Amino acid sequence: MWIIKRYFTYFKIFILIVFFVSVYGVSLNAQYKINTVVIDAGHGGKDPGAIGKKAYEKDITLKIALKLGNYIKKNLKGVKVIYTRKTDVFVELFKRAEIANKNNAQVFISIHVNSNEKSSYTGTSTYVMGVDKSDENLEVAQLENSVILKEKSYKKNYKGFDPNSPESYITLSLLQNAHLEQSLQLAKIVQDQFRTRAGRKDRGVRQAGLVVLWNATMPAILVETGFISNPTEEKYLMTDYGQSIIASAIFRAFREYKNQIEKNSKYVPVSSQKTNTNKQNTSINKASYTKTETGIIFRVQIRSSANRIPSGSSEFKGLKNVKEINYKGIYKYYYGATDSFSEILKIQEVVRKKIPDAFVVSFKNGKRIPLDQALKEIGRR
Ligand SMILES: [Zn+2]
Repeated sequence: MWIIKRYFTYFKIFILIVFFVSVYGVSLNAQYKINTVVIDAGHGGKDPGAIGKKAYEKDITLKIALKLGNYIKKNLKGVKVIYTRKTDVFVELFKRAEIANKNNAQVFISIHVNSNEKSSYTGTSTYVMGVDKSDENLEVAQLENSVILKEKSYKKNYKGFDPNSPESYITLSLLQNAHLEQSLQLAKIVQDQFRTRAGRKDRGVRQAGLVVLWNATMPAILVETGFISNPTEEKYLMTDYGQSIIASAIFRAFREYKNQIEKNSKYVPVSSQKTNTNKQNTSINKASYTKTETGIIFRVQIRSSANRIPSGSSEFKGLKNVKEINYKGIYKYYYGATDSFSEILKIQEVVRKKIPDAFVVSFKNGKRIPLDQALKEIGRR
């Protein structure tokens, strides 16, 4: 009889363990999740995009976008899919990222078809917003950006950006991409999928000044799914089969990226998402928050990393009071905090002597926003 009693006690302990594990499990699941994606079918309506012998870019991008959305909806329950367009309509470039920003999407995927004077060009490439380094990338950017000339008030909406002026691209390259690492991470998986699973030629991950990605406040990529100027690829991209292969490759890449990011953020204790700096820095932050009516605060981003960098690490080059924020699975490190733009520029100047690629970023009520928007809100532009 005592044996039964003892086993009953063990059983109670077992139940208790199961209970705690499940409760703890729930709290782990409350970590960062990718639950909204915006899929952007390039071009549309009066803008056909690149024109092939038989097809328009806008028709191919729409078909692939809808297929991609369906794969996500079907296979990744709990992920909300938002399209910038579902039919053959014209959507201004700035509105596309705006849709993603307004819906708090965590990923923005823009689908396009490439074109080149040389019909021999084939293959896929995935672009992220960044400093352009080659003529070919600049050409693609000019081609994709030229659509804004079809928009009524493009000068106002793009702050004087002229898609044909090289100076405009230099200005654009000065704006830092806050989500560069993650955009590159996703872009790389997309290209891996194209090469290894979809059997497409891999032209690599590239960076260019692409207006459609410019204002996205989340990791954002632009996928060139092939060349409409190459008759074989045009034919492939026009078929339901080709579109399905391309869409499923992007789908698998999105799923893998989602898993990687969520796994990365899953075991981060909530406390480390807050500041790990000393009281002095916290008080600066607090003062700035209460002082500013707009809720805007500027910081200098000095590092970002998939792995946590301990405070006092030599990577911070002796900078003290570095603030750590775990943002979407990536650790970001900031120095300084002020509501004054001129003050943060001074701080940036000092920091750049130690860390040359440090750059100014802006937050509104603790949420990362594009620098342009912040400057507009404080009346600097
Ligand atoms: Zn395009």
